[in-house]
Amino acid sequence: METGDAANLLAPSATSDYLGWVLSVQANYYWVQLDRRADLFSAGSRPPLGTSQELSASLGPLASQPPLLLCTRRAKLKKLGQRVSVGDRVLVEEPDWVGGRGAIAAVLPRRNFLERPPIANVDQVILVFALKEPDLDSQQLTRFLVQIEHSGLVLRLVLSKSDLVSLAERQAWSDRLRQWGYMAHCLSTQTGEGIATLLAELQGYTSVLAGPSGVGKSSLINTLIPTAGLRVGAVSGKLARGRHTTRHVELLPLPQGGFLADTPGFNQPDLICFPNELAACFPEIRQRLQTGACQFTDCLHDEEPNCVVRGDWERYEHYRVLLAEAIAYEAEFNQQATPDAQLKRRTGQSGQAHYEPRLAPKKYRRPSRRAQQQALDTLYQDLD
Ligand code: GDP
Ligand code: ZN
Repeated sequence: METGDAANLLAPSATSDYLGWVLSVQANYYWVQLDRRADLFSAGSRPPLGTSQELSASLGPLASQPPLLLCTRRAKLKKLGQRVSVGDRVLVEEPDWVGGRGAIAAVLPRRNFLERPPIANVDQVILVFALKEPDLDSQQLTRFLVQIEHSGLVLRLVLSKSDLVSLAERQAWSDRLRQWGYMAHCLSTQTGEGIATLLAELQGYTSVLAGPSGVGKSSLINTLIPTAGLRVGAVSGKLARGRHTTRHVELLPLPQGGFLADTPGFNQPDLICFPNELAACFPEIRQRLQTGACQFTDCLHDEEPNCVVRGDWERYEHYRVLLAEAIAYEAEFNQQATPDAQLKRRTGQSGQAHYEPRLAPKKYRRPSRRAQQQALDTLYQDLD
C-alpha cells in the first residue's frame, strides 16, 4: 500500500475525520480501509452517529482505491470498554498520511455480531461444500447449516467442484437439498462455472465464507479476488504468521465492492445451541410445525407422544444426533453459570473434557509509550 497515494487522493485538512471498515485486528492494532470523507459535514463537527447505511447515503463516494491505515484505538474507547472488531464501521481521526497511521475515535453501532469467528456487521454466510473430493457428507453439512441457521444470518449454499461430477449427480444433490429446504448454487473454479453469479451476490455486502477444509475455499477466494494471494504472499513476519492461527480473521475487499471473510479453523463447528432452539434450525421441522402441532408445547421431538415432527424424513436422525449435543451443551452451560463455579472446562487432546481451576485474571499493565512505538515499528518493518 502506497500511503503517499492516499495523501494525493484526499489532500485532507488536519482536522478531518474519516469513516472506514476494520479489515483485520492484530493485538492492539487495526487495519482500517477508509471509504468516505466525513468532513463533508460542516467543518470541525462530527458526523452524526447513525446507522452505517444512513451515513453512507449522506456521504459522497471517495476514491476508487481506498486508503488503508494501521490504526490504534483512542484511550477514551479503552476507558469506555468499547472493543473494536473486524467488520466494525469506525471513525478515524486525523490520519497521518505519510506514516499510513491513524487512531480510531468511535465505533458505529453494530447491526449484528458473529461470535465465532468474531466479525461485526455480517450480511450473509456463504457455505461451501464440495460435490466431490471430499465427498459431500450430509451429517457434516447439516452441522454447518444448523449453526448458520442458529445465527439468524442470510445463508447461501454453494456446491463447489461441479467439474468433478456428472450432470445427473449434481441434479441428484440439488433435488435432495431442495427436500431439506435449500437451494444450492453449483460452481467450479476450474471451469469458471457459476463464478459470475456468486460474484454478483457478494457485491456490496460483507460475506463470510464457511465450510470444511479442502472444499476449495482458498481457490474460490483467489478466483473472486485475484490480488488476494498476491497480498497475502507479500505479507511476511508477524501478520503473515497471525493469518494462520485459528482465530485470526480478516475482511478481503472484493474488486466490485463489499468484503469477503475467510474463516480458518472452522472445520467442524461445535454446536452452540440450546435444545429448544434446535428445531427452528431445520426448514423441514419449521414446515411440519406450520401445518401441525405436537401434543406438548415444549416437545423436543424425540420420544414424546403425539409428535408431528418425528417421522420418516431424511434428516430426522441428524436432528436427533444434534439434539443430544444441544442437551449436553445446555448441561455444561448451566454448570458454568452457577455463581460459585470455580472450575473451567477444558478439552484434552483426546477430546475428553475435564475441569481445571479458573485462573485469576491477569493484572492489566499499561505498556510504556516507547514499547508501543517499538512494537509498531517492528510491525511496520515486517510489512515492508
Ligand atoms: P480449502 O481448504 O477449502 O481452502 O480448499 P483449497 O482451495 O485449498 O482446494 C483444495 C483442493 O481442491 C486443491 O487441490 C484445489 O486445487 C482443488 N479445487 C479447488 N476448487 C476446485 C474446483 O472447482 N474443481 C476441482 N476439480 N478442484 C478444485
Ligand atoms: Zn414434537
